[in-house]
Amino acid sequence: MEKVSTLVVSSPNVQYTDDFILSDYEYEETLVTKNGHELLARPYRTSLKIRTGRKVGKVGVMLVGWGGNNGSTFTAAVLANRHHLSWTTKNGKMDSNWFGSITQASTVRLGIDDKGLDVHVPMSQLLPMVHPDDLVIDGWDISPLNLADSMARAKVIEYELQQKLRKEMAAMKPRPAIYDPDFIAANQADRATNLIKGTKYEQYLQIRADIKDFRDKHKLDKVIILWTANTERFCEVRPGVHDTSENLERALRNNDSEISPSTIFALAAIDEECCYINGSPQNTLVDGVVERAELKGVFVAGDDFKSGQTKLKSVLVDFLVSAGLKPVSIVSYNHLGNNDGKNLSAPKQFRSKEITKSNVVDDMVESNQILYKPGEKPDHVVVIKYVPYVGDSKRAMDEYTSEILLHGTNTIVVHNTCEDSLLAVPLILDLVLLADLFCRVSFRRGDNHEWTSMHSVLSPLAYLLKAPMVPAGAPVVNALFKQRGCIENLMRACLGLQPNHHMQLEHKVPFLMKELHTGTLFSKDSPPTKKAKLAQNGDQ
Ligand code: NAD
Repeated sequence: MEKVSTLVVSSPNVQYTDDFILSDYEYEETLVTKNGHELLARPYRTSLKIRTGRKVGKVGVMLVGWGGNNGSTFTAAVLANRHHLSWTTKNGKMDSNWFGSITQASTVRLGIDDKGLDVHVPMSQLLPMVHPDDLVIDGWDISPLNLADSMARAKVIEYELQQKLRKEMAAMKPRPAIYDPDFIAANQADRATNLIKGTKYEQYLQIRADIKDFRDKHKLDKVIILWTANTERFCEVRPGVHDTSENLERALRNNDSEISPSTIFALAAIDEECCYINGSPQNTLVDGVVERAELKGVFVAGDDFKSGQTKLKSVLVDFLVSAGLKPVSIVSYNHLGNNDGKNLSAPKQFRSKEITKSNVVDDMVESNQILYKPGEKPDHVVVIKYVPYVGDSKRAMDEYTSEILLHGTNTIVVHNTCEDSLLAVPLILDLVLLADLFCRVSFRRGDNHEWTSMHSVLSPLAYLLKAPMVPAGAPVVNALFKQRGCIENLMRACLGLQPNHHMQLEHKVPFLMKELHTGTLFSKDSPPTKKAKLAQNGDQ
């Protein structure tokens, strides 16, 4: 692809200042009301001003579970890309890349050229985003191994690349972390020797001190905290403990046994005004945590990276249901042999994973009442087994059976073998980069002067998460391409561009086709509002 350095939108609806991109945006929806048997669809429009901060600043990321497979692989990937490292395998010379990251390795359709052909740009070029090379990394782990040894333990990175990274990563050592054997599997106990002692409140204070220390040491503008530690069991949500920020504070000070380590990390992050992202399934982000985030104007997002089997499920079921086929049975088996699999071999931790994996088709099923009666769902079973030999190379086997025409059946079987952490790490990167971006976006109505950030529960990150959290009362979207459309179109809105509609009328309506071919289409009735100009390297 042609290298694009800057994207400039040329439109009366968009203004660039030193600090911001300001867009005047007409947000359009259709209000549907029901009157007896009549459905009334009424288009409506909301005039918004959208402001995106252009100054990216210096961003740090702190990983909880830094020494795990994901944490060590993430660090290795950032360093390998930063130093443009190459290594040799039996297949020849390999170069570093960010495949699997939507911000770094996917493109967005920007518009059309004068021949009516699609023009795509890297997603990272749409709006000012942190460059992965510039991320500063730190973190905590209950295991004391330095990052080089963690990387070797994970057995994910190719040997020669490990050798090239070894020196730099050996100097990185996870900070002591909070260990509560009641929340992760008993089989993790032997690695838990790098611990913060004291009461839960003292542990919370230590995490806050760690965040401050990291921020000050590297003079960071922003720190994002991301949990990629072991899956915890669900905490038992109790009224008077987890329901409000105040109750949570009291319970924390009282050393309440149902305050999980991850909830302590989340509270410490929020109180340090850091965005907190939960990459595992457990219910860290209880109501009291969300209330705290809202009070502090901080973002939280979760739960559980959507990396492999569930990602495919959220595409396949969407395809089946939108094709008018009726999935009636979805059965998913997994086996894996990494430490995540070992932890998930304990029933309570497996249960957390089972919950986040199980609701992933609900929105697609509920969208089609021709196929499903209200409340009806396909049979859906998820099995996970621990098989040490396969290590990080997870096997996922899925069987999708659908009812088709006149009650025939159609069964699709999918077998997927993939190194789990090499799928999850690009998602960690995207979560951090997109969270940082969306923290810089704010909205106001044309007639109001006060800018408002997005809701504290950062649901636009849903594409990257298995069980996306949404603000109370908002619908959960699992369908992958809707989730991606949300990210893309939000970014377009920040640039005053309408959502991608994929109609391509220039190639379907004869008089438009003719105008396109004679070169009169764009001069005719399109105001400059829809024109975007790509400034090539050095143009600006
Ligand atoms: P891992 O077991 O290799 O790493 C987890 C690390 O967390 C370990 O080093 C462990 O010592 C550490 N840890 C445990 N409790 C801790 C605590 N309280 N504080 C700090 N550190 C702690 O697992 P992984 O493969 O890196 O996966 C990490 C998490 O991501 C798991 O919960 C997993 O379910 C989730 N996840 C992974 C994928 C994927 O890899 N494709 C997808 C979705 C979700």
